[in-house]
Amino acid sequence: MSSRQGGTSMRLSRRRFLKVSSAMGATAALAGRTAPALGARPTSPASRQERWVPSVCLQCPAGCGILVRVVDGRAVKIEGHPRHPINEGKLCPKGHVGLQILYDPDRIKGPLQRVGPRGAGRWQPIGWDEALEQVASRLRQLRQRGEPHRLLFMSGRNRGQMGGFIDRFVAAYGSPNHVGHSSICADGSPIAHYLTQGFKAYAGYDWDRTNYVLCFGAGFVEAWRPTTRLLRAYGHLRRGRPIRAKLVQIDTRFSVSAAKADEWVPINPGTDAALALAIAHVILTEGLWDRGFVGDFTATASRFRAGEAVPSDAFMESLTFGLVAWWNHVLKDFTPERAAVITGVPAATIVRLAREFATTRPAIAAGERGASMQTNGIYNRMAIHALNALVGSIDVPGGVLVQVSPPLKRPPAVVQDDIAKAGVKQPRIDYAGTARYPLAGKVYQGLPEFILGEGPYTVDTIFLYYTNPLFSSPAADRFRRAFEQVPFIVDFTPFLSESAEYADLILPDHTYLERWHDDIIYPSLGYPVVSLRQPVVEPLYDTRSTGDVLIQLAKAIGGSVADSFPWRDYLEFIRDTFQGLHEAQTGTIVAPSFAAFWDRLLQEGFWAHPPYPFGQWERVLHTPSKKFEFFSQALQHKLEELADQEAARRQVSREQALEDMLRGLALQARGEAVYLPHYEPIRYAGDPKEYPLLLNTYKTMAHAEGRGANSPWLQQIQGLHVGVRWDSWVEINPDTARALGIRDGDQVWVESPLGRLKTQAKLYPGAMPQVVNIPFEQGHTAYGRWAKGRGVNPNAILVNETDHLGGLAAFFSTRVKVYKA
Ligand code: SF4
Repeated sequence: MSSRQGGTSMRLSRRRFLKVSSAMGATAALAGRTAPALGARPTSPASRQERWVPSVCLQCPAGCGILVRVVDGRAVKIEGHPRHPINEGKLCPKGHVGLQILYDPDRIKGPLQRVGPRGAGRWQPIGWDEALEQVASRLRQLRQRGEPHRLLFMSGRNRGQMGGFIDRFVAAYGSPNHVGHSSICADGSPIAHYLTQGFKAYAGYDWDRTNYVLCFGAGFVEAWRPTTRLLRAYGHLRRGRPIRAKLVQIDTRFSVSAAKADEWVPINPGTDAALALAIAHVILTEGLWDRGFVGDFTATASRFRAGEAVPSDAFMESLTFGLVAWWNHVLKDFTPERAAVITGVPAATIVRLAREFATTRPAIAAGERGASMQTNGIYNRMAIHALNALVGSIDVPGGVLVQVSPPLKRPPAVVQDDIAKAGVKQPRIDYAGTARYPLAGKVYQGLPEFILGEGPYTVDTIFLYYTNPLFSSPAADRFRRAFEQVPFIVDFTPFLSESAEYADLILPDHTYLERWHDDIIYPSLGYPVVSLRQPVVEPLYDTRSTGDVLIQLAKAIGGSVADSFPWRDYLEFIRDTFQGLHEAQTGTIVAPSFAAFWDRLLQEGFWAHPPYPFGQWERVLHTPSKKFEFFSQALQHKLEELADQEAARRQVSREQALEDMLRGLALQARGEAVYLPHYEPIRYAGDPKEYPLLLNTYKTMAHAEGRGANSPWLQQIQGLHVGVRWDSWVEINPDTARALGIRDGDQVWVESPLGRLKTQAKLYPGAMPQVVNIPFEQGHTAYGRWAKGRGVNPNAILVNETDHLGGLAAFFSTRVKVYKA
């Protein structure tokens, strides 16, 4: 890499690296040298130029530190960075296969222009200058027509500051439409945290010090984040300390996490809130709540008794708000017996879990995609998270942490001319934040319908960054139909994905091992960690960093858009914002000048500022009441504000507008319960008589979120637990299979109201009798030789159901039937 890009580039043996990084504070000046040209071959081992380059994995958003061994300009090995706080030297299987991403023979090798019909795969090379001018010219014309809002920027894995950089681009350009993909990921958790604690992000958990874990629907040791952190935590929880913590996995299938847990609690899909509410009921009726955090009755003889309301002034809350309302409107009747009918979990088990959870402190109740990406996902996650408050596990050792942000320097304010100011005032194309999806920040999976006519206007241009909606969305074929109607699509992908095949222009990005990119810690440890993804080799092909390309486009558009991007390239932007880390003069790198700070960062790979600051209540309880809110005032205010707007627009009463809105959101609750964690029955598509089974989709350890099928090594380990490689399967309970006349290995059809898929049946005792399970990752129709044409994509038959309150895609709302092919 050039010295302009890298400041001081390095030659560093692994042993030397370990020595240097363990010194953590030494300002060892390492000899800089430029990497040899690609393809150069040594004449003898002695002449080899070898170095280990610290960087950051991007095979998932966990942000693990890596060391890449580079010999004569070729990356030959990836190892875990031994001192990186997230992974401490470990990598999950996806991290090891990074070289197969870098050296994938089917990478896009330069800008491409489509010459055939969409999806036909006919392309011709185009130079960068011509391609960029084509895009800039179109964007300039859109602004000249006063229609910048018709630019839609869809993004996926926005690590570090890239999401904010894209926000900046669309704001400067004049569009309100940056639609990230998290509404098809796990948005239910951040929204639940926002409603109860006032922070809209994933939570961190102090796994190392907890004694008991209730894990609702998250693949603890296989597909949750950060995977390596969780794997290490699992080992530590179980054998790394004197007291062995207990892990209870609550899941609809016997997953690897369930197998590795102390106890598997099978639960009917989408009923997690009912279980959590009954656990809360037991904790309160048995007097097991944390009095320091929650408070207590004002009269010592008072108690929570099943079925009996409590006077609102009988209980004095400490750091919580709305407990009595929660009890009176939801919990008092939510007995274990009632929950048992809904969840399928025996009442005695619920009582035991509640007692264990409340008395084996510190304890954590965590949940993720399996609990949250349902039609009732927000309330599921609220109910689960509320258990943490009941036992005082908020912001204490062994409990829930709120991730601290790093002290990055804020970039200058976006410059907007009148065109941009008018554009960003237009309604969003996805109706996020409106009465249709009140708590949503984005509604990615709804875009096809909005593009095809339901939206407030038509879309002229789509940018795609690190996202593949034609593969990853429920009822994915809707995106194909929608994209056919969009005049201009640009994809920044390094790979010819299903969505890229529908683009007009491909401006290929570098892979993560070739580019400068920052990485900010995924919420986990609590304290801030910022890592530097530096190129380990020169770019192999004629590709460019998308950050650089956005700056080039902004400059080509000119005016205030260009003024908003004063940096020469994305590296300069990173260096500019990292000035804040240096100026903080704290953390693991403290240096007298920014140049010295940057050199240390290049050597060490990350900056961190441990330990986690417990007890910052104003930061971690950022709600209207400054307390943990069982009764969410944020939710109440939002719905009432929207109801008032609707009432004024339609000339009806606020009550009528609110009622209409709740009906539109398909909520059954009314009154106070709307603002409290409660149980909403899940909505399913498909007549149960015709489609008697429920379809559950899940992720394996090899799942790189739709981006891992182009790795031969990951294909080799995709289905180890059922003995399937390079293919898909459907897991069926043996009794169910027997009743259907299906044997292990039979080819079967899995049919939903949307269509059908043919795959092999695996008889799996860990499948619940009424649920069949298909893993994600396979079923590509594009994406290179290793991925294309293998297995099936369950998204093809998943209906597009949504938790309207939060705009979440509901991945578990599809009924199916299964029969022999
Ligand atoms: S957990 Fe994620 S970031 Fe870490 S090694 Fe695995 S894929 Fe890479």
